[in-house]
Amino acid sequence: MKVQIYGAGMSGSFLYMLLRDHLKVKITDVRSKPPCECAWEIPYNEAKRLYSLIGVDFDGYILAKPDHIIINGIEFKNLRLVLFDKRRFLADLWREIEFGESRADLRVDATGTERDLLPRIKDDKIYFTVQFLEKHRIKEDIFIYIRRTGYAWAFPLSNRLWHVGAGERKRSGGNEASRRSFGENTIQR
Ligand SMILES: Cc1cc2nc3c(=O)[nH]c(=O)nc-3n(C[C@H](O)[C@H](O)[C@H](O)COP(=O)(O)OP(=O)(O)OC[C@H]3O[C@@H](n4cnc5c(N)ncnc54)[C@H](O)[C@@H]3O)c2cc1C
Repeated sequence: MKVQIYGAGMSGSFLYMLLRDHLKVKITDVRSKPPCECAWEIPYNEAKRLYSLIGVDFDGYILAKPDHIIINGIEFKNLRLVLFDKRRFLADLWREIEFGESRADLRVDATGTERDLLPRIKDDKIYFTVQFLEKHRIKEDIFIYIRRTGYAWAFPLSNRLWHVGAGERKRSGGNEASRRSFGENTIQR
């Protein structure tokens, strides 16, 4: 069977790596370099297990393992979340990928919120986001602030670098350029 994947973000690239030794698989992306506007917070155990399936040692990409998560000012012990270098991770995967397009038996839409082949999700929730890289000299915890119409975050990326951002249901609350899915039915813009 021949498989054509459209979109080489995390989903498409992961699927390509998973299939490439078993099927004829090709992948294309409209971008010339991997997408990554964001830092990535992810559960350690699941990531370690999943990425080992495509031969990647996840430990080499971890930027920070914060002790605490502070949600709306309340401190919780962080048992599983780590920050990892998604930009470098994807760049390394792209070096192993042979991009191309051909007639296929199965076409996979991995174009993220673009949903280039699939129909749009009905009644999807859209969040407009702004995001920045900032330097701060504070302890490396994960900060999340949630309110009814949106949320904000600050993630440590090591060496005093922080990924800071906010998303709001109203367009005035964010930046249209950073559109990505975040959760099952929610899209950030
Ligand atoms: C600010 C922000 C912070 C986030 N933080 C986290 C986090 O901490 N942890 C977490 O787990 N998730 C986080 N997310 C969500 C995460 O980024 C997405 O869930 C993830 O990127 C989805 O991956 P994907 O491969 O499905 O789609 P994308 O990453 O959107 O990749 C889609 C790819 O398809 C390509 N494409 C588009 N159209 C076409 C076409 N016609 N043909 C070919 N290629 C095409 C695009 O160029 C892109 O490379 C965050 C998102 C944002 C916006």
